[in-house]
Amino acid sequence: MSSATARLAAVHGPLSAQTLRADFPGLATTVHGKPLAYLDNAASTQRPRAVMDALTTYEVEMHANVHRGVHARSDRATAAFEGARERTRGWLNALSADEIVFTRGATESINLVARCMDGRMDADSEIVLTGMEHHSNIVPWQQLCERTGAKIRVAPVLDSGALDMAALSGLIGGNTRLVAVTHVSNALGVINPVAEICELARRAGAPILIDGAQAAGHIPLDVQELGCDFYALSGHKMYAPTGIGALYARKPWLDDLPPFLGGGEMILEVRFDGTTYNDPPHKFEAGTPNISGAVGLGAAMDYLAGHGLERLAALEHGLLEYATERLQDEPGLKIIGTASPKSAVVSFVIDGIHPHDLGTVLDHEGVAIRAGHHCAMPLMDRFGVPGTSRASFAFYNTHEEVDRLVAGIGTARKLLGQA
Ligand code: PLP
Repeated sequence: MSSATARLAAVHGPLSAQTLRADFPGLATTVHGKPLAYLDNAASTQRPRAVMDALTTYEVEMHANVHRGVHARSDRATAAFEGARERTRGWLNALSADEIVFTRGATESINLVARCMDGRMDADSEIVLTGMEHHSNIVPWQQLCERTGAKIRVAPVLDSGALDMAALSGLIGGNTRLVAVTHVSNALGVINPVAEICELARRAGAPILIDGAQAAGHIPLDVQELGCDFYALSGHKMYAPTGIGALYARKPWLDDLPPFLGGGEMILEVRFDGTTYNDPPHKFEAGTPNISGAVGLGAAMDYLAGHGLERLAALEHGLLEYATERLQDEPGLKIIGTASPKSAVVSFVIDGIHPHDLGTVLDHEGVAIRAGHHCAMPLMDRFGVPGTSRASFAFYNTHEEVDRLVAGIGTARKLLGQA
């Protein structure tokens, strides 16, 4: 427990999901006449009232376009937007707010890096990925390879869902021009040893991008300590609105890489005989940004920091342990991804029940899970399944909701003639 977390615990006492739920109006709704048990947090989290209130205050009191305004309201909008950048810097412990580029989400953050890397790749170049990447951390690199002739090398996943670190280490070498690895697998919940992987990349002189979509709202982060070159995150997976995310990139990269999109905001001077680009991060933020989204992201970070991310993570860990215990007792149920450490995601298959059928039955019980390939088709192939059922927890979920998940599986068995 960090000293800040210990201080919060001393002042506020232990956290409980029941009290935290009151901050999330979306959880107090019904589905098919049943109270909602929202267990699809790896896809998108619900938003606390603090985020909704910050958005309303921004809209009512501040909204205008940012950066070029000569009026007070534009100054207020700019201060709110740049304030959110500073909060994101703090969240990641980046050295400077200039290292934070706002994007639409992790997908755009990864695409930004991939699109700007053409000049650094040739037919001998290798991009090292892992077998557990989300399609967002595969397809942009495949497209880069199509443009440049570079090749993808894939580190395998062990039966437990852990990354094969020995194989990964063997793949990172003199031809590696980039390593791109997920921090937490969205499909398995497995947490990768990213600090160790950064060290492997550093020793080979290769830059490393970490896809933090599933980590940024659950694990305290320090990009300087990690030593990564790029870190991608999505707001909507950490209690902020959709359509906002961020890319952390070490300053030398942002200085050296060419711009991503062209247009307003990213220029200093435009003439028909040539254009000079703005300084980072603005060089990578063409057009009017998602100002309110950034404000919402800052508010979400404040909300999480206010409760202490480690204390919230402890609640999630309790849910993971309880759900794992309950589900592994179910006949014919196999959890895919048992390696530790894990975030609060449980992916499973049940003999004779298709994940989509289970998802539909559970929905009618008010229990929202995700069923399918989770945008990780190569990983599904690795485990020889077309898809899984995935329950993913946030600190506001309860043990009673886990019980409802298990009861829903019983209902599905009855309806499908298994019981
Ligand atoms: N990476 C991982 C590990 C994810 O889980 C996701 C979304 O599920 C993404 C990337 C893409 O995030 P977004 O759709 O918010 O851009």
